[in-house]
Amino acid sequence: MTVAEYMAACLYDPEDGYYATRPSIGGANADFLTAPEASQMYGELIGLWCAHEWDALGKPAFNLIELGPGRGVLMQDMLRATQRVEGFQDSSNVVLVEVSAPLRDEQAERVPQAEWALRLDDAPPGASLIIGNEFLDCLPIRQFVRGEDGWHEKLVGMDEVDQLTFGLSAALPAPDSDDEPGTVREVAPALESLIYELERRLHEAPGRALLIDYGYVTPEGADTLQALKRHTKVDPIETPGEADLTAHVDFARVAHLAEQAGLDVHGPITQGLFLRGLGIELRFKALAEANPPHAERLAREMHRLTSPDQMGALFKVICLSSPNLPPPAGF
Ligand code: SAH
Repeated sequence: MTVAEYMAACLYDPEDGYYATRPSIGGANADFLTAPEASQMYGELIGLWCAHEWDALGKPAFNLIELGPGRGVLMQDMLRATQRVEGFQDSSNVVLVEVSAPLRDEQAERVPQAEWALRLDDAPPGASLIIGNEFLDCLPIRQFVRGEDGWHEKLVGMDEVDQLTFGLSAALPAPDSDDEPGTVREVAPALESLIYELERRLHEAPGRALLIDYGYVTPEGADTLQALKRHTKVDPIETPGEADLTAHVDFARVAHLAEQAGLDVHGPITQGLFLRGLGIELRFKALAEANPPHAERLAREMHRLTSPDQMGALFKVICLSSPNLPPPAGF
């Protein structure tokens, strides 16, 4: 099978898939830690970003949509931070796009007013503000490897002793290129479909999508498939369904597809730059002054979110918008 089919089976198989059965986010014993799980400041700033953009849209009734909300922490923090923005919450219809049944249950505890959808297309029509943190990296990728004799697709199969192993397809009739043997190119078909869904929605009614993830602008030609279990990288084919499987996001491709679809594109910029632009330092100061015993922890959290040696540079932020809106905050 292709790497994309393998990823989809590992993540989404109804009986054994990671998200269907045992997703574990946040906390010391979890498999991975995301930005909203690392600090409340993250969701608060993104909530205020949404309030600002809702204002820019002319304060309409709108869908506040989150793609892949995990444990619901980001939306919970966003809603807390926007409680006092007059009219914002009354105008919003919160929609969580989630495939994982166990995570939906956790989300319902934190965001009881939400409704759920299995995919973006199932969310109600109308103006929307769409957020996705570490969502794009779950979308399955196909991998192509440059050999001496051209391009091959990377495949997953069984060896003689029935162990999962990687292999390569026969050479593909692909155009020649200057890439060195060993170069890996990755494509994410589901990412392309998502951009088309965003295109339809953002052309039918005004709105924006803010997508944040780890990824690159210039591909390095390396294999970015990665499996995480308890914060440790494991072999992606060692324990299928038991680890979180992801790939780095090709932000240049996201920007290109969105531009071709007639959307306005801002970014990608680094998460550090984005959060500083939204005023994370001011938010930190206010929280630290109000809770001096927590000042040190809050400083560590801010460092984690913004510093280039932590999440600040690897993570990128891109905003896709309906045409003819003013530039979004933070870019
Ligand atoms: N945004 C959260 C969780 C990131 S993990 C955070 O930052 O903490 C990825 C999330 O996307 C999980 O909630 C997972 O169940 C969901 N997910 C993965 N693939 C999906 C898909 N194809 N459609 C909808 N949700 C998906």
